[in-house]
Amino acid sequence: MTLQRLKAKCIFPVDRPPIENGLIETVDGIITTVRMAEPHETATDLGDVVVLPGLINAHTHLEFSRVAQPFQPARPFTDWIRSLVAYRRREFTPNSTVQRDALSTGATEAESSGTTLLGEIATSGWSDVTLSTHGPRIFAFHELIGLHSEAVELQIKLAEEWLARNGQSDRVTFGLSPHAPYSVSPELLQGSIELAKRFEAPVAMHLAETHEELEFLADGRGPFVEMLKSFSAWPEGGLPTGRRPLDILRILADAPRALVVHGNYLVDDEIEFIAARPRMSVVYCPRTHEFFGHEPHPWLKLLDKGTNVALGTDGRGSNPDLSLWKELVFLRERFPDVAPSTLLELGTLAGARALGCEHDCGTITPGKRADLVAVSLGGGGDLLEELMTTDSQIVRTICGGKM
Ligand SMILES: [Zn+2]
Repeated sequence: MTLQRLKAKCIFPVDRPPIENGLIETVDGIITTVRMAEPHETATDLGDVVVLPGLINAHTHLEFSRVAQPFQPARPFTDWIRSLVAYRRREFTPNSTVQRDALSTGATEAESSGTTLLGEIATSGWSDVTLSTHGPRIFAFHELIGLHSEAVELQIKLAEEWLARNGQSDRVTFGLSPHAPYSVSPELLQGSIELAKRFEAPVAMHLAETHEELEFLADGRGPFVEMLKSFSAWPEGGLPTGRRPLDILRILADAPRALVVHGNYLVDDEIEFIAARPRMSVVYCPRTHEFFGHEPHPWLKLLDKGTNVALGTDGRGSNPDLSLWKELVFLRERFPDVAPSTLLELGTLAGARALGCEHDCGTITPGKRADLVAVSLGGGGDLLEELMTTDSQIVRTICGGKM
């Protein structure tokens, strides 16, 4: 049995007010006590820091963690995808270790920036064998792509093998990600959801991300069609038209848990639809949203309606780094009227809810894992006000009690 006692200038558990001069006790990586420290009490002193629950980055593509700069151009979106595909073809050759190395590089980067849990989109070649024995836990969503009906059977078989791995790893939970409405046939989407139900697995899907996607769903026209044709991915009979994100949401709603990734262009009735379903969440990626120059994101309206909104960095293909802390600092700067405690909940508890693990992480609470992050303060004054500034630094990440 390993006992641990940590103290810090302030502990912010998220599910209750900050505790100044706080102390956390853990047994075998599980929190047992959170309280004020007694004078002269012996404990490992983390110093002049605020301790928060470990950050939860609900959307990443770690395979791009060795990309030095985001892919260009950011617009039009289909040109950005073409750059991404060109990178994959160039770097992910059969004997190359770039993709494999990128996973551990990305997980290490995420950990050093305070993340203890990741929602990761896993493409072919994704393997957890290179991950070290400790570090952030990962929900790995196996990506399904295909518009041709003959691709469905094989895709579903691979997805089934993926989900069958659940329970084999302490570090990784396996889920599914039918990629996006423009890259997944209705049949493949339906098949993914059936499989997720059978395995009680979570599902993540990119949705309502661009204007071009809305045009694609409605009319079956636009830049996506041109791009898919150039990749020989366009099905001869075309795809159903007259659709919108709400039609996709209705299918996703059947999944045991669904993460709607981006949701940049969700409209009122779609927001209402998600808000009425507690097992559905939206993952907002603030700096990636900015990179692509989208219209304002409806995250405040989603929150107002009671939707669970988690945060993600997305991959380094559209973001300069994998720091969820920097997403919080970015939001604090752009939305000074939103309370820092609300932002902090988005980066912690909301991510846990999105991934369905709020019972064991997302707040500093007895009975949960000791997933913690220590942040040095930007200056004096009110602790939470001062916390999310560009001067603040992540000084330590603790995953399951491991320092
Ligand atoms: Zn993504």
